[in-house]
Amino acid sequence: VNETGTAASLERQCEEMAAILGVGGPVREEVLRAALADPTYAQHLLVCRGDDEFLGQLMANPPRAQEPADAGAIGTGALLRRAAESLARWAATGFSGVPQERYQARLESCAACPHLQAPPGRRAALYALAGAHAHDRSVCGRCGCGVAAKARRASDTCPEPHPERPGLNRWGDPIPATS
Ligand code: SF4
Repeated sequence: VNETGTAASLERQCEEMAAILGVGGPVREEVLRAALADPTYAQHLLVCRGDDEFLGQLMANPPRAQEPADAGAIGTGALLRRAAESLARWAATGFSGVPQERYQARLESCAACPHLQAPPGRRAALYALAGAHAHDRSVCGRCGCGVAAKARRASDTCPEPHPERPGLNRWGDPIPATS
């Protein structure tokens, strides 16, 4: 990729990140690089979506990146957006989590699920934004969330019907009736 292409790609990624965070205009390059280098900062940005004051503070003060991010490897898509939405939902509930026993049961269900997958290769860096590990099978292929974080959130549920238990999802929770 030549310099012009790299700059255009970086600009596009700053715009994509702004869209994910729900802010107008592209985020600053420092914010993008810091989010990719520091998943904790990235997660803070995501959970503050919709809160202009907190988000503004975070974006005005990105931590110094330890190393340059591989911006060329970034992409975005529907799965990542859904993961971001899930984090926003969790933030709206006051960050409540499920008891440890339930958390383990959820993780076991995910581990046995055919939809569990590795983060899409070119999107692994952005998946760090959603708290997923960039290796092994750690992302739900149905909703795009990193399951280690998703299973902890009381606001989250499994989107896939259980193959043998009608009316329940793969986590064993009742599936809400659709109107
Ligand atoms: S959340 Fe449900 S669909 Fe997604 S990986 Fe876990 S069990 Fe499978």
